[in-house]
Amino acid sequence: MTLKQVAEVEFPTRWACFRLLAFEAVHVNTKTGKDCLETVLALVLGDLHSFPPLVRIHSQCTTGEVFQSLRCDCHDQLHLALRVIAEEGAGVLLYEQQEGRGIGLIEKLRAYELQDRGFDTVDANLHLGHVVDSRDYAVPTQLLHFLGFRSIRLMSNNPEKLKAVLDSGIQIIERVGADVPATPYSNRYMSTKRNRLGHLISSPADSPAKESDSIQDALLSEAHAEAGASSGDYRGGFWRIS
Ligand SMILES: [Zn+2]
Repeated sequence: MTLKQVAEVEFPTRWACFRLLAFEAVHVNTKTGKDCLETVLALVLGDLHSFPPLVRIHSQCTTGEVFQSLRCDCHDQLHLALRVIAEEGAGVLLYEQQEGRGIGLIEKLRAYELQDRGFDTVDANLHLGHVVDSRDYAVPTQLLHFLGFRSIRLMSNNPEKLKAVLDSGIQIIERVGADVPATPYSNRYMSTKRNRLGHLISSPADSPAKESDSIQDALLSEAHAEAGASSGDYRGGFWRIS
């Protein structure tokens, strides 16, 4: 993989004034086997090296984030992450251009057509000839290493993201839930994410909290076992761009 920083700007938002770093990476996606040029934005805020920072790896969703579609939870999760990072005064949001779990906007809309005919999000992708989730998280995890992190707090409900971070050799000392309210339009999508993709989404209806906790404990135990003595090696001071 080649990874390079291509821009850096001051980035004021309604939540905080971040630094925005733009990266481009060329790599072979391990899920699809295809060469790809991937763009990732890193919104960084505050002191990231005195304590394991809060990190969110977020995938682009034009329908949710631009048009505030209620079919998914992406818009609310993005705003939740930015708000919590701002409230804590430090953290990183990595924004991947991976629309529709990597299949692109038009294919996502074709998948929506199938969902309107009764398919769920998993079967719709498969019916269109895609893998269920084509994101391999190689670029964002490489970027976490590039930013100098050995240990983080990860905001995610997605076990594949947790595993990708752990497999890259970065410790997760805490999983922070990215739970946002469902809508009547997103209920089915979110229950598919929970039941077929294993997402750790809290649901008052079937009380998955205990199960989620046990999965989280297992993942974090695995992290600690694999990471060994790598904790506690943080650079002091604020994140600075060289
Ligand atoms: Zn979405």
